[in-house]
Order: sequence, then C-alpha cells, then structure tokens
Amino acid sequence: MVHAVLVASPGIGHLIPMVELGKRLLTHHGFHVTIFVVTTDPSTTTSQLLHQTSNLNSLNIVLVPPLDVSHKLPPNTSLEARIGLTMILSLPFLRSKILSITHPPPSSLIVDIFGLAALPIARDLRMLTYVFFTTSAWFSAVTLFLPFMDRKMIDNHAQSHEPLFVPGCDPVRFQDTLESLLSPGGDMFEGYLKAAREIVTVDGILMNTWRDLEPVATRAVREHGSLGQFVYPVGPLVRTVEKKAEHAVLRWLDRQPRESVIYVSFGSGGTMSEGQMREVALGLELSQQRFVWVVRPPNDGASGWFFEVASGDGDDVALSGLPEGFAKRTESVGFVVPMWAPQAEILGHPATGGFVTHCGWNSVLESVMNEVPMVAWPLYAEQKMNAFMLSEKLRVAVRVAEEDGGVVRREQVAEVVRRVMVGEDGLGMRNKVKELKVSAEKALSVSGSSHASLSQITHNFQPLLQTP
Ligand code: UDP
Repeated sequence: MVHAVLVASPGIGHLIPMVELGKRLLTHHGFHVTIFVVTTDPSTTTSQLLHQTSNLNSLNIVLVPPLDVSHKLPPNTSLEARIGLTMILSLPFLRSKILSITHPPPSSLIVDIFGLAALPIARDLRMLTYVFFTTSAWFSAVTLFLPFMDRKMIDNHAQSHEPLFVPGCDPVRFQDTLESLLSPGGDMFEGYLKAAREIVTVDGILMNTWRDLEPVATRAVREHGSLGQFVYPVGPLVRTVEKKAEHAVLRWLDRQPRESVIYVSFGSGGTMSEGQMREVALGLELSQQRFVWVVRPPNDGASGWFFEVASGDGDDVALSGLPEGFAKRTESVGFVVPMWAPQAEILGHPATGGFVTHCGWNSVLESVMNEVPMVAWPLYAEQKMNAFMLSEKLRVAVRVAEEDGGVVRREQVAEVVRRVMVGEDGLGMRNKVKELKVSAEKALSVSGSSHASLSQITHNFQPLLQTP
C-alpha cells in the first residue's frame, strides 16, 4: 500500500486543500495518508476547522506543536519569510515523526509551495517528492517557467511595465503582477526564484485546478515545462462540510429570500484600512442589497491578519472599525460577522447570491462549486491574476477598478454589488458559473480528467513500491 505524507504550511488557505487532497487520495485511490499541519496559531481555529471538515476519521492528522516566530523577526518581515522560518523551525519535529512511521513506510512526500524546506527529509528517505500548488495552473506556470525566463524580460516587466510572457499561456499584465516580481534582485524576488528552482527538481506537481477550467495553462505546463507530463491538475479540491456549524449568521440567512444576499469576505488574512472599511460599509448601504460581511480590525497592510486568524479576542476591535450608526441603520438587511465566518456554509446557503472576494483560490473554488458569481477585489499574492481570469476570461466576476489614492469609493462598491446581484451581467455571470460547476464535477468524476490525474500518480508509484 502507498503511504503518502502531506505537509501543510502555515495558513488556512494551505491547510484546507491539503486536507481535501489527503481525503481524496485515501477514499478514491486507496492511499494510506498522514498529514502534518504546521501552524503558528495556538488558538483553536485550526482544530475547529479540522473538526468541522467531513470524513476525517481515517486520515492520520498530526499537529506540529505551534511555533510562534513573531518575536524572532522584525515587524515588517514579509509573509513569505515568516512562513519560511516557521517551516524551518518545524523540521526537527517533522523529520523525527516521518522517520518513526513504519506501517507502511512512507513512499512519497507532498508539500505546498511554502513547505519546500521539508523536501530533503524525503530525499534522505528515498521517498518521491511532490509539490502541490494550492492555486491556479496559470500561477503554477509562472513559477515553473521562472527559472528559465530571460532576465531582461523580467526587468522590463518590473521597470517598463511590459507584459511578462509565459510560454503557451496568457501573459501577465503589469497591473496583475505578483509582488515578488516587482523588484528583480530584491529579497522577495530572489526568494521566489530560489523556490521555483527547487520546485522544478521534484518528481511531480499537483495543481488545485482542472483541465477544462484552464485548458491553455494546463497544456502549457505539460508541453513546454521541464517536468513535462509529471504535472497534474487534480482539482477542484474544495472543503465539504458534514457537521453543520451552529452560527447565528446561518439562522439569519434562513430568513432571507433566495439569492438575495451578497457575502463580503477577504479570506483568512485579508485586512483593510479604516478609510477603506468605511467606504465598504457605506457602499453596501448605498447598494440597498442584503449582505453578510466578515470584518477584521482595520489594518494598513493587506494581509494584516494572516497569522492571527480568527481567535475570538479581536471581536470588539473588529467592530470598532465600522462607521458610526452603521450597525443600527443596516440591522434589518445586513449581518456583520466579526473575525471569522463559516464560509463554506454561507456560500452553500440558498440565500447567498453573490460574493465580494479577495480572490484567494480556495474562495474562488468554493464560490464556483456553489454557483455564486463574484465581485473580484484582489489584495495580495497571486490574487490579481485570479481576478483577471475570473473577470476577463471566465466572466464569472466583475472586478473592482483601482481608484486614485488606493481607496475604492462607496459609489463603486455599490455599483459592483448591484451589477452582480440585480444587473443584467449578473444573470450572465450566474449562468457561466453554473457551467463551470458542471465542468468541475465532471473533472472529479470517475471518468474525469482530475480523477485520471490522481490515478496516474498512483501508477507512477508502482516501480518504487517494487524496489526492495
Ligand atoms: N474562511 C472561512 N471563514 C472566514 C474566512 C475564510 O471559512 O471568515 C476559509 C475560506 O472558506 C477558504 C479559506 O478560509 O477556504 C481561505 O482561503 P483562500 O485561498 O480563499 O484565501 P487566503 O486566506 O489563503 O488568502
């Protein structure tokens, strides 16, 4: 029997798809699965989330003792560097635990793109190495091609704002680019390049997408990439919830008409300045639509809450960022959830008809699987690329336009919300998103492309298993 060890790096957005991958390997492909969860979060969020996730009984989930790196790094250290240090500090624990697994001994290690530090453990133990991109094929393509890109082109992209050409794929426009590509030669760029060089040395790549969603990018990585056919689209792997959360917002939604509520949330870590929060609040009021809004304490950084996710402690501070009188004025049409909401259930609720999202890939997939059209409001990482894909290519979202001073004004907020909820293009997006869901279900079915990809991976293990 094949035993796969999966390591999820810090961040709910990495943990959720890794757990779903584990479940699929176990239930559909007969793998033995152990998942190590690396976390900085000593609160109960991670365990609550795991508790609410369905069908976990047969998965062996090991929580690495939480590691708090905040006092070891300067306050403005990048998210990537903080995750990187946490991973490095978790290595002794991971190594000793993986070494102790004997029933059956593990034959493959699957990490996400922030978990590369664990790969040497697998190589020492002669395990196959896989990287799981928990995001799109297009972003995967940029990463897989990066080590082979002409440096002059990268410089021109950063300095003259020329498009970044990605073999066989849509080019990345400067306005959608990654923070890591803004300063070639800088720490973030070098870190990304180093990671990309490491990634192309593994035995295979898994991506949380499916062939028919991104036919161009999936073909490009398989036909033009150095890993060739060992790149597998296996998605969409989206959280399924069995034990329904007990939450007041769900009871409130039960009382609202079908597809009448817009859900507003910026992921597990997304934050906004106080000024931007005010505009969102007043824009929601102006839109005259019903809403559910997950609010966090105001923060001038876009990913300000990434490491502190969701403990109840910040509830009062989160609500204090709302404009005077907002809660009272909107109590009959809106529901504000401080800090953390049961997103999978909200998107699956019949009353939810639209989603203002930061375009984190899990949120995007959850929206598609629940047939909910989106307002794309990207904040950081590869979210602008996702927003481009959703609005320009797939046409299941309307994108928020950047405004002078960086603050999106209330009038625009109201306009994009109305376009999705009651506008004519909203209807078109709703139909399109339904088509995407059908195509996703087909990919996951026994005769589908994503199911076939995972079967192929199993097949690749066979020679290894026969080696004494
Ligand atoms: N999530 C949630 N409640 C919240 C915010 C986020 O359940 O209040 C979940 C959401 O359903 C998704 C994940 O956290 O599965 C966030 O992942 P995503 O890739 O969308 O964004 P990230 O947080 O990684 O930026």
